[in-house]
Amino acid sequence: MTTEKELPRITPDGELTSYPPIEQWDDWEEYDANAWPERVINKFRLVPTTCFNCESACGLLAYIDKDTGKIQRFEGNPEHPGSRGRNCAKGPATINQVDDPERILYPLRRVGARGGGEWERVSWEDALADIGGRIGKAIREDRHDEIMYHVGRPGEDGFMDRTLKAWGIDGHNSHTNICSSGARVGYALWSGYDRPSADFANAKFILLLSAHLETGHYFNPHAQRITEARERGAKIATVDPRLSNTASMSDFWLSCWPGTEPAMLLAIAYLLLKWDAVDHEFMRRWVNWKDSLTERYPERPPTYREFIEVLKDEYARFTPEWATDECGLQEGQIEVVAREIADAGHAFSSHTWRSVGAGNLHGWQGARTLQFLHVLTGSVGTVGGLSPSGWVKFKPPHWNMPPPHSRWNEMLWPKEYPLAHHEMSMLLPHFLKEGRAKLDVYFTRVYNPIWTNPDGFTWLEVLKDESKVGLHVALTPTWSETAWFADYILPMGVSAERHDTHSYETHAAKWLGFRQPVLRVAAERDGRKINRTYETNPGEVWEETEFWIDLSWQIDPDGSLGIRKWFESPNDPGRPVSVDEYYGWMFENSVPGLPEKAAEKGMTALEFMRRFGAVEVERDVYMVNEAPVPGIAPDDDGIARKNGTPVGVEVHGAVVQGFKSPSRKLEWYSRTMEDWGWGDEAIPGYQKTHVYWRDMDMAGTERILVPTFRLPTLIHTRSGNAKYLYEISHGHPLWMNTIDAEVLGFETADLVRIETDSGHFVMRVWATEGIRPGVVAASHHLGRWRINDDSGNERWSSALVNLEELGDGKWRLRQLKGIEPFTSDDPDSERIWWKDPGVNQNLAFPVHPDPISGMHAWHQRVRVVQAQPGDRYGDVVVDTNKSHEIYKQWLAKTKPGPGPGGLRRPLWFDRPVKPTADAYRTS
Ligand code: SF4
Repeated sequence: MTTEKELPRITPDGELTSYPPIEQWDDWEEYDANAWPERVINKFRLVPTTCFNCESACGLLAYIDKDTGKIQRFEGNPEHPGSRGRNCAKGPATINQVDDPERILYPLRRVGARGGGEWERVSWEDALADIGGRIGKAIREDRHDEIMYHVGRPGEDGFMDRTLKAWGIDGHNSHTNICSSGARVGYALWSGYDRPSADFANAKFILLLSAHLETGHYFNPHAQRITEARERGAKIATVDPRLSNTASMSDFWLSCWPGTEPAMLLAIAYLLLKWDAVDHEFMRRWVNWKDSLTERYPERPPTYREFIEVLKDEYARFTPEWATDECGLQEGQIEVVAREIADAGHAFSSHTWRSVGAGNLHGWQGARTLQFLHVLTGSVGTVGGLSPSGWVKFKPPHWNMPPPHSRWNEMLWPKEYPLAHHEMSMLLPHFLKEGRAKLDVYFTRVYNPIWTNPDGFTWLEVLKDESKVGLHVALTPTWSETAWFADYILPMGVSAERHDTHSYETHAAKWLGFRQPVLRVAAERDGRKINRTYETNPGEVWEETEFWIDLSWQIDPDGSLGIRKWFESPNDPGRPVSVDEYYGWMFENSVPGLPEKAAEKGMTALEFMRRFGAVEVERDVYMVNEAPVPGIAPDDDGIARKNGTPVGVEVHGAVVQGFKSPSRKLEWYSRTMEDWGWGDEAIPGYQKTHVYWRDMDMAGTERILVPTFRLPTLIHTRSGNAKYLYEISHGHPLWMNTIDAEVLGFETADLVRIETDSGHFVMRVWATEGIRPGVVAASHHLGRWRINDDSGNERWSSALVNLEELGDGKWRLRQLKGIEPFTSDDPDSERIWWKDPGVNQNLAFPVHPDPISGMHAWHQRVRVVQAQPGDRYGDVVVDTNKSHEIYKQWLAKTKPGPGPGGLRRPLWFDRPVKPTADAYRTS
């Protein structure tokens, strides 16, 4: 810090700039705001990295104080093509995660009983030797399926693929089936791509089935583009039973009964067909209309004109009048939105991800019917329309990638769910309880299933049982409810302390982002030689890339398992590959245009990425289905194949790329669904949800609980240590319409007991007109808890609780105290003024796996009653025997494989760490 005269302006007088020019990032000077009115100048080095606080992977710029060597703050990286220098509140809050006075800085090993809360510090060497030795033994004894890696937010793109392939295990587990399996199936059945990519910036009309703009999937990159479209005159409709922030900013709010959304969407399809607001040229080229007719309607002439008649017949019952009643909408709303969609034509864009897909039995039909509207209007791959995510997501090949393995782990991919997207992770504890298998080494990474998943007490029971889970290793920078039941806690870096690459479908362009440890980069720019990231991280915090390299080395120290070779340095096989070698190879060899861009600036590709943090690979990505495939003739079925792999399709005499479905067209009728026993759901349709409003006793106390909505400023289970965020969001009421409140006898702040099928929890009521009557809702971010007063979870956000096993599968969690100020190295911890930790409602939700998608149907049929004598705020009481019975009831809805040809799963369905085709076959 220096006190000097006046800093020069960086722009001409009268002009403003938001960001320091990149030429000055190594030597940035600015006034210290705290010193005002004195002109004290602080000197910074600015190093880009990537936010890890949601999936969007926005660019961040770390301001590293040159005097202290510490990160002072994070702002946006203007060089990032996805976020363009902007962030939501969660981005800058990364500094709280770095400076968290309660973070775990050293590896810990359990002492005493699991979950007993006693730990000892252990060296990384001992931890790696113990864990690596145990995995190596399991692999040598052919117990590959006993090794499992379970990730919540991956935040990386391919390194774990290579690690698990190198180990030769089918052990990748994810959180997808509590998140997005439903929407994925809906999209994948059309095109083979299981995610959408909206071109919001150029849209004329945007239909959001969620609180997306404000709290959704690609929050900031999408929100800024939706806002731009709106400024240019685009209109927005939001479908949500809650008046979310997004709904309140929209032109139309459609408050459907939860689970009826597909009925509304099919009524819009009905109108588009009736008005002939259909792009027939697109449909004729790109819909599998001929197969649809010959296979599902063989008695009808196989002409396009007849196909349109079939569509009109199939959807004749979805009149706006009928759907308005079925969905509980206001008269005329469906017609108005349908007219906007018809008028927008190719510039109609949309999004759904959680919402209907994540809430309901058959919820996947939400994405399936929404995509139908794009198919009808031809707004697929267009400017302002909707593309498959795979067109813009850029995943560069990794260095020295091992080949696919040939194993199939039925604990992850059970026969009951052959079409699930993806692993049936939420059923793991039930499978373990049933004795289907056991785990020897179980990693949790950025994953907190006891708190996050439905039926957390069943997770707790299983994680405590060493006969079911031999060794639980939690890779985490912070404590969590689940880490408390680990054997090892290994501290891993937050977003500014690690390397990863990533790319997401933020807009109609491809880009690659680079997350990097900013203090390591700064130290290297200062001329220090850094070998490993932990040398510049706090305490003994590692980064995972280096962890997996070293662990793999420990699993196979002499190379006899054939694992070590995948992690040896290309320059010196006697030592592990370094991150510079690894990512340097990727940027130099796998990213089109990057070496040239770097050379223009006199840099290597790695230096370019370290300097800019991201690179745009291609812009204006549209109509990739129409890209010519030269030199390959189609087979008799019209599909062009290269070495047996489909690469194109013949359309009107020319071979073009098409989509990734079996026909390489957009499949209205899905032969796959028919073949696997779901012929009645093979076309976009509408089936009753498990929380169907007409089946409920609304005159009594039954209501639909919507527990899926997000707060825009919190991060699932990872914002507990972010004081900036908790100061903004720290209340957890039950949203209840004023009409329901009056009928049920509640006023705002009254205690209310919510009874689910496996237990109950107790919250406080917020009577509001911002939710439709008959529906109650509670955000899913709050309700963190800890068992010990001064350890086990973040005191900025968690309640101290008493966890009681009442016997015979009955559990009660009771809050002993809420959030209180505490003493730490951060003086702000003594200034905490918020008190409400919220309620861990997910504990009281039994699993509801949709029989097709495998998605947990989060919405609950609940009874909303007065708190009983003895009830206290925050109480959660659950009977895990009941929840296991409910698991069995839902399991009975499935149609187990194998399917045609003895397949465990359709070969064309994506899955993480895809094995060889052999592994798909049961015989
Ligand atoms: S939207 Fe917010 S939390 Fe998500 S990556 Fe961007 S800045 Fe981070």
